[in-house]
Amino acid sequence: MPVPGVPILEGKYPSTMDLYPFEAKEFNRIHPFYENLKQKRFTTTKCKKCGHVPFPPRVVCPQCNSEDLEWVDLPTQGKVLRFTEEIAGVPLGFESPLIHALIDLGDGRKFICRISNCKEGQLKEGDTVKLAVYEVPPMIIEKRGGVMEEAERTFFAFEPVK
Ligand SMILES: [Zn+2]
Repeated sequence: MPVPGVPILEGKYPSTMDLYPFEAKEFNRIHPFYENLKQKRFTTTKCKKCGHVPFPPRVVCPQCNSEDLEWVDLPTQGKVLRFTEEIAGVPLGFESPLIHALIDLGDGRKFICRISNCKEGQLKEGDTVKLAVYEVPPMIIEKRGGVMEEAERTFFAFEPVK
């Protein structure tokens, strides 16, 4: 069984250093988001009552407080509007360059996301980027009856389209 946390830390730090979300359905009501990610789908919730489509997904509509929501797909490609590249002093668990970009998904939605698989100095404003799904070390969770189990995890970034 792996040690909880980020592998680069080699078990020196507790799982509180792990900044990735708990994805298991026992702990997270938006767990379908991660199930969909595993199938390379980028999804969020849509309110069946008022039609609002927030991102990140919610368990209650922030517009009308309805809990009657459905899962919908978002575009998996977008354009880079602005970005930052962190070369030195990158946080533990990340490699240099650590790039974050403001991405326009083309559906009226803009959001900030990490850019993966991109070398220093390569990214330009206007570049097209696509969804990149990656594995995160599993989290050890305690199920009913005190049974310890590994919960697989997945997270996303965007990467340049080559
Ligand atoms: Zn609503």
